[in-house]
Amino acid sequence: MRVFKFGGASVKDAAGVQNVYEVLKTVGYDDVLIVVSAMGKTTNALEIVIKDYFDKSKALQASVQEVKKYHYEVILDLFEDEKHAVYQNVDAIFQELDYFLSHNKSPNYSFVYDQMVSFGELLSSTILSHYFTSQNIPNNWVDVRNFIKTDSNYRDATVNWEITQKTISKGIKKNILNITQGFIGADENNFTTTLGREGSDYSAAIFAYCLNAESVTIWKDVPGVMNADPRYFENATLLNQISYREAIELAFYGATVIHPKTLQPLQRKEIPLLVKSFINPILPGTSVSKGVDLEPHLPCFIVKRNQLLLSLSSIDFSFIMEENISEIFKLLHEFKMKVSLIQNSAISFSVCIEDKYANFEALKSILSKKFAVSYNENVSLYTIRHFDEKSKTAIEKDKTVLLKQISRETLQLVTKEIEL
Ligand code: ADP
Ligand code: ASP
Ligand code: MG
Repeated sequence: MRVFKFGGASVKDAAGVQNVYEVLKTVGYDDVLIVVSAMGKTTNALEIVIKDYFDKSKALQASVQEVKKYHYEVILDLFEDEKHAVYQNVDAIFQELDYFLSHNKSPNYSFVYDQMVSFGELLSSTILSHYFTSQNIPNNWVDVRNFIKTDSNYRDATVNWEITQKTISKGIKKNILNITQGFIGADENNFTTTLGREGSDYSAAIFAYCLNAESVTIWKDVPGVMNADPRYFENATLLNQISYREAIELAFYGATVIHPKTLQPLQRKEIPLLVKSFINPILPGTSVSKGVDLEPHLPCFIVKRNQLLLSLSSIDFSFIMEENISEIFKLLHEFKMKVSLIQNSAISFSVCIEDKYANFEALKSILSKKFAVSYNENVSLYTIRHFDEKSKTAIEKDKTVLLKQISRETLQLVTKEIEL
């Protein structure tokens, strides 16, 4: 079995959905399981709905309407017959969303977030399934919440592998095209959970692992994994082959083309990950597998924007040692800060963090009681894997460097944000 993941960019409009069908015709679809993300920027649009809902904003109606309008436009383009079953299905999904908005009593933001944001993937998978059927590709729409089982850590749920493995092995039909949702799962009470933003790649890896798939292909708007994000770096070059280890490092440092959690399950079973272009599906793209680190061997550039550089020093000149550091890390964990770089000296400690859940103010006030706290907001973290003199000079040019760290393979710089 092969697992395919189509991200938001690949299904951003009717032409995108038609193109997915073309891709399937080109590369075959027997014994394939498709994991699909929400269409285009739907997840961001639903995040606005959730915010308006909690703020009791007058804009709520309009923000819900925007999500509806977008999806109805897509189906109107795809299905001429307005009596087609897809219309009832999409109506029913939106009725469910409206019902939740008017009946929910839970004040738990993360819980509500997951119940609502998941409508994006339910809609996209429903539309795709109907479209394939209309093009004579029989397929089986799978509600992922019956298969990927997680804890109740809403917005960042952890997979219960044992139950997930059992339900997938037992329940997923082979020899037919299956289509399911990325990003979402369900807890033991069957409430919807999510695996973290951009988590659909990870969903594909979970299915591949549990099904012992022969490969996972993630279909992208780029030719594959490149040695830099082509949006920000001119002359980005395609990497034909990279090892799991290299891919984990690149993803961890912030190469957003692959979600970092994706690699671990695949590596354990040595399932190859192919990153390919949905525009040119016959091109080989990048193969992530066991073997050579990186081919061609080039410096790889990664930039993470919107980071926060936090520096703590002891108020009384005492050392910052294991004990304080473990306390600091406990707090960083509690406040869900994502740490991407650490540096310490005798009496000071700096971390570059990402404040994904807007918790920094609360964290700062706790830390200020014990440490002298200084910070720079809105900094960028540049990483070069396999750096050389030329790439080092190029990256340092024109930047205000706040912190630098060099190891054998990796150079990292924290810089003030610059206009691109
Ligand atoms: P999806 O539609 O699957 O969610 P994403 O937008 O998350 O796709 O990922 C594709 C994007 O990742 C590309 O458009 C590209 O701008 C970006 N990207 C970041 N780093 C790299 C890299 N090293 N190689 C290729 N693309 C990259
Ligand atoms: N739709 C989700 C997001 O935008 C998951 C994904 O696309 O991977 O974060
Ligand atoms: Mg994505």
